[in-house]
Amino acid sequence: MPQKTKDTPMMQQYQVIKDQYPDAFLFYRLGDFYELFFEDAIKGAQILELTLTSRNKSATDPIPMCGVPHRAAQNYVDILVDKGYKVAICEQMEDPRTAVGMVKRSVVQLVTPGTMMAEKPGQTKESNFLTAVYQQDQLYGFAYTDLATGEIYVSELTDFEDVLNELLSLRTKEVVVPETLDPETRTKLAQLNILISTQADAKASAEVNFVSQGLEKTTERAVLKTLVLYLVATQKRSLAHLQVAVEYEPSQFLQMAHQVKDTLEIMRSMRSGSRHGTLLWLLDRTKTAMGGRRLKQWLDRPLLSKQAITLRQDRVAAFSAHFFERSTLQEALTKVYDLERLAGRVAFGSVNGRDLLQLKDSLQQVPIIKDILGQMQTPVFDTLIPQIDGVPEVYDLIDRAILEDAPISVTEGDIIKNGYNTQLDAYRDAMNNGKQWIAALEAQEREATGIHNLKIGFNKVFGYFIEVTKTNLNQVPKGRYERKQTLTNAERYITPELKEKEHLILEAQEKSTALEYQLFTTVREQIKKQIQRLQQLASVLSEIDVLQGFSVVAEAQHYIKPTFVSHQQGIHITNGRHPVVEKVLGPEQYIANDVTMTQQTDILLITGPNMSGKSTYMRQLALTVIMAQIGSFVPADTCELPIFDQIFTRIGAGDDLISGKSTFMVEMIEANNALSHASQRSLILFDELGRGTATYDGMALAQAIIEYIHDNIHAKTLFSTHYHELTSLSETLTQLKNVHVGATEENGKLIFMHKVLAGPADKSYGIHVAKLAGLPDNLLQRADHILNHLEKDSSAATPAASTTSAFKVAEPAPAPLTVKTKTEAQLSLFPEPVPETKPIPSKAKKV
Ligand code: ADP
Repeated sequence: MPQKTKDTPMMQQYQVIKDQYPDAFLFYRLGDFYELFFEDAIKGAQILELTLTSRNKSATDPIPMCGVPHRAAQNYVDILVDKGYKVAICEQMEDPRTAVGMVKRSVVQLVTPGTMMAEKPGQTKESNFLTAVYQQDQLYGFAYTDLATGEIYVSELTDFEDVLNELLSLRTKEVVVPETLDPETRTKLAQLNILISTQADAKASAEVNFVSQGLEKTTERAVLKTLVLYLVATQKRSLAHLQVAVEYEPSQFLQMAHQVKDTLEIMRSMRSGSRHGTLLWLLDRTKTAMGGRRLKQWLDRPLLSKQAITLRQDRVAAFSAHFFERSTLQEALTKVYDLERLAGRVAFGSVNGRDLLQLKDSLQQVPIIKDILGQMQTPVFDTLIPQIDGVPEVYDLIDRAILEDAPISVTEGDIIKNGYNTQLDAYRDAMNNGKQWIAALEAQEREATGIHNLKIGFNKVFGYFIEVTKTNLNQVPKGRYERKQTLTNAERYITPELKEKEHLILEAQEKSTALEYQLFTTVREQIKKQIQRLQQLASVLSEIDVLQGFSVVAEAQHYIKPTFVSHQQGIHITNGRHPVVEKVLGPEQYIANDVTMTQQTDILLITGPNMSGKSTYMRQLALTVIMAQIGSFVPADTCELPIFDQIFTRIGAGDDLISGKSTFMVEMIEANNALSHASQRSLILFDELGRGTATYDGMALAQAIIEYIHDNIHAKTLFSTHYHELTSLSETLTQLKNVHVGATEENGKLIFMHKVLAGPADKSYGIHVAKLAGLPDNLLQRADHILNHLEKDSSAATPAASTTSAFKVAEPAPAPLTVKTKTEAQLSLFPEPVPETKPIPSKAKKV
């Protein structure tokens, strides 16, 4: 009876290891392959498009198996992890040739979506964040890290909505939670479609203590413990590059929900999901990967402190004023490699000779960069220059130790320079002497034998040999040469003394290679002690890089430095532009627009035909605010802005497909979010709010929302609407102004002016837009006909309109219009209780 494969010692070992990693693909090293077994093999073969075979086919229960060559394993691991799976890498821990019994194996790393480090070219400007959540009653500890760079941020959040928002904004692929997490919270997290990993509690490791330095909040300490224990458990190697966690509060920054960032296309385009066409794409003129990542951080969290913002602005201005220095600086920055990731690799022990040379080249630029900033002779860099520490010890060490053309491999020698270590020099001398001796031997033997083309060569199989071509074989000395190999045209020989020298040379070589590796690891360990200084340097350089980039964009796009005023002073922008649309269309094509919202204006009600530019105008203001608050210059001729605390948007009508909510429901949830969180220091953008429901319903809600903002919130609000009737609200709401986007008709065609002008628009151009879209002529005629009819009808229905002065509708108006509190209560639209019924026209009557 065939043996049951499952019972073989190897499969038993496999099973023991697999049981520890039930939720991961186990890559089990077998010689030159990683093998997958059982379910892993079936699923893996399918995903990775591998051939599924089985171990011991003749067995009664053959085990499904597939494998990947170990040299190509990284690609396969990447594919699986990209798809959200975990992969446990199980290595042979001893040499199979010398092992007694079963080769020892163990998992050396658990690669997970949140801990994967993208090393592919073109991805280095991306961060991959691993997040962690801890809950204590109504308090949440929240932390995130980018393992490649070792940075960690931590916060205590008081609202689960904030936790969700952070998770979604960071686009994390994996969130770690403690085993004890409240199941209800876990269920809520599970809805986000992010991999949830559980970490058991354990004694705090040295890494945990290090990163939590100076933190006092229990939730923050607890979440960091969960996060770092998970890193320790999965990475199983030095994490010396982890940085002390930086505590933050979302309210220290300009707050935007993740949907707002998506809508405004700050880092991802709505249509393509890529960075092309985003604010990031426009602003990223950084020269280093670190700068690219820093810019993303800034865009994610614009500032609130006027002082901090103006410092950035002043530095941007300084770069613009020093064109020559800026270009020298850019040249230097181009030669700076990704210091943060290099530091990470030093800590991980995965750094090689080439990496160290990159580190050296980068450090070499630091004094140059420092000099350039000094030459600019401006006080704005006074606090920054002393922070630039080029870590000269590390530069010197690498310069003394590492050969300029060190190979990628760290175990095959040719890494360490001559003169760095006397023992190594001695081995090399021995090798060289031996080689010289052999070279001399060639001459001697030619002379002794009279064979002029006698050669001494070397190959890996036979070592050194003497080669004699066939025509000269008769001159080979009898007895002294021992034949080793026959070729078509020549014979190869060895002699005892040649072999003796060869032995000496090879022995010296072996020793020298081993010593080189040892020296390399000590160099690495020495650099490891300076990791924090390298990270600090990376941080300063990345900031400089972003700022020089801002000055480049400002110049190329003709941006100006915005000034900050109080909220009472309002918004004053002349000739403002949408930065991305302008860049795409070209400056000649883009029509600049002013935004004026004085102390007397909280709300701009924007009317105008579809496609006229209403939403572009609103986005333009939001992007200008964000650019201003990250310290960038802005697209305008002049710009005065207050500093905003939050931005709320409802733009575009996409259904939330993931949670299955209708457009209208999403609209109302977002509206509610704005109404319940906005302050008078916030910016609200509502684009055609209410269009997701029946006309009257929508219009009523739109009006009530406008009134609510007007009376209770006083946030600066741009509200575009196709309910033309709402424009008469300006008669009653003192802080509301009408503007419209002009369009003219020429020969029955609609010409968009894209110019925002005072006052309401006068007519709906829907049918013209339909015509531009190419709808059939007879259909359009029919629509025209119906419109005329409706207009006639509505002028007949004036009594209704008079009681609802805000609602001069183009359809027969049902009177009286009310907002039913039932709807309000259901949707919790308003944070405070409102009267039982609120007649819509009440405002109109007040005047
Ligand atoms: P609406 O919100 O009124 O339907 P959009 O803001 O979506 O209109 O604008 C429609 C198109 O018009 C945009 O895609 C853009 O190409 C163009 N556009 C908008 N504003 C301007 C402007 N100020 N200058 C030039 N083109 C503009």
